[in-house]
Amino acid sequence: MKYKCPICTDSQWPLKQVGSSFHILEEQCVIGAGSRLQKCHGCSSTDRDRLVFVYLRDYLRVFSAECGIKTILHVAPEHCIAQWFLEQKDISYMPIDSKEHGYEYQDYIMEMNVLDLDIQSNSVDLVICNHVLQDIEEDSKALGEINRVLKPGGKAILQVPISNSADHIIEDPTVKDYSGREAMFGQRFHCRIYNESGFIHRVSAVGFDVETISISDQYSDCSLNPLEKLFVANKHHD
Ligand SMILES: [Zn+2]
Repeated sequence: MKYKCPICTDSQWPLKQVGSSFHILEEQCVIGAGSRLQKCHGCSSTDRDRLVFVYLRDYLRVFSAECGIKTILHVAPEHCIAQWFLEQKDISYMPIDSKEHGYEYQDYIMEMNVLDLDIQSNSVDLVICNHVLQDIEEDSKALGEINRVLKPGGKAILQVPISNSADHIIEDPTVKDYSGREAMFGQRFHCRIYNESGFIHRVSAVGFDVETISISDQYSDCSLNPLEKLFVANKHHD
């Protein structure tokens, strides 16, 4: 395998192990979760981060001077991607997280909860929320907040683990303990396993038009997951 990281250009192969293996993830054919050799030696990016990065760079062209995207909200930012935005002088970049006791966060991350954004309505060009919504009990409320702060015509990249076999969203709000969530959702912080149509329905319900985009096959040296699609939510213009 020829590998060149699109984020840091490191080429060491094989990649490092990331994620944890749980039976339910295999049983439900979950894309974008589980134990896999996908962590870059150079920047610690995973396959999921590299997919979002190449979409930002090549499709939205956020790092080019003529790009119209100037205000970006990044929820629970991946350090490897955040570093690129922190170097862009003409982008107003808001990396936020709901900081929890006992965890370490980069200094540049602002304390803010996606369920209650301290941001003006209709003010943001782009939201990046990469594998976060599955951890949020009130995911529809978070989606509503993301929709509120986006400008009309703005976009949100909303990645989550997706079951390739379930015909509905697997969730149970009464399951809150680590072992119960690991057994049922495949990760101790996850509140559910989405399926594709259920996820699109939930995102659409707050007023978004959702595009699904497959670009992984165009990046054979970036070690992307060929099954992982991008879910891009567009806020209506009216
Ligand atoms: Zn890298």
